[in-house]
Amino acid sequence: MALSRRALLAAVAGSTLAGCGSSAGGGAAAPEAPEASASAAEVSGASGASAISEATPSEPPTTAPPAPPAPTAATASREPTRAELIARYVGTAPKEWGMEVTGVTTKLPAGESATALTFDACGGPGGNGYDADLIDFLRKRSVPATLFLNARWIDANPDVFKQLAADPLFEIGNHGTVHRPLSVTGRSAYGIAGTGGVGEVYDEVAGNAHKLAGLLGHPVRFFRSGTAHYDDVAARVVADLGERAAGFTVNGDGGATLSAAEVRQELAAAPPGAIVICHMNHPGGGTAPGVVAAVPGLLAAGRRFVRLSDVLR
Ligand SMILES: [Zn+2]
Repeated sequence: MALSRRALLAAVAGSTLAGCGSSAGGGAAAPEAPEASASAAEVSGASGASAISEATPSEPPTTAPPAPPAPTAATASREPTRAELIARYVGTAPKEWGMEVTGVTTKLPAGESATALTFDACGGPGGNGYDADLIDFLRKRSVPATLFLNARWIDANPDVFKQLAADPLFEIGNHGTVHRPLSVTGRSAYGIAGTGGVGEVYDEVAGNAHKLAGLLGHPVRFFRSGTAHYDDVAARVVADLGERAAGFTVNGDGGATLSAAEVRQELAAAPPGAIVICHMNHPGGGTAPGVVAAVPGLLAAGRRFVRLSDVLR
């Protein structure tokens, strides 16, 4: 418990989640200008009208009538539109802001003894790298993980994305369209401007969600905002869009700024049930060697690693 508090404080204090959006030089690089409504049109046109059914009057009456088809997730709850969400939250002011906010999952369910390693790929200037050493190690040791990918990172790494998406060891999560802190009032984190309203929250979440659904062939279940900051209204919008907002318990690599020894220490001390955040977009940093140094000892001690979907609904 002390560790997670310390890790969170470290995140707040300085090292930040720099791997999430700042330039490699450490300056508070401004995020790319949000691409207005880049996402809005991607959803429509999914499926057309259903076929006209023909009557089949010759069925024998001996059997019980067939059960009605069970509603699927897709038909049971239609995704709200941007306009519907804006209307839904008119006049709703957020009460919370930060990394531990109502509606954001920051740990695994009570009693869960496994640990969830999560790796963000933040995309954008200075953020489009790919840490092959890290991913190769996870594969070599069959350590599952959840990979939160930003739309810009996917665009910059299409072939790697296909390999990761095809690997059952990994679960792909949504790390936003242009990597913005998720606010309905424009609050910023680490100098990165947050979304300015419910409509921009929709763009940030749904833009990449639709992209990922198209690429993967199924919806993603988890979303983590750029910098892992949310307000409580924005977190509700994430849920409205069918995703679960993810935070973290342990800041494993300090936004890809920690040394290998520090990463090893954070991971080795991560308690059972922790969600650990690290980064997979800064090759050459401390993350990969730190993970390589920490994980074998944890495995030898019997620690299990899970993807978020393995233990969270
Ligand atoms: Zn990030």
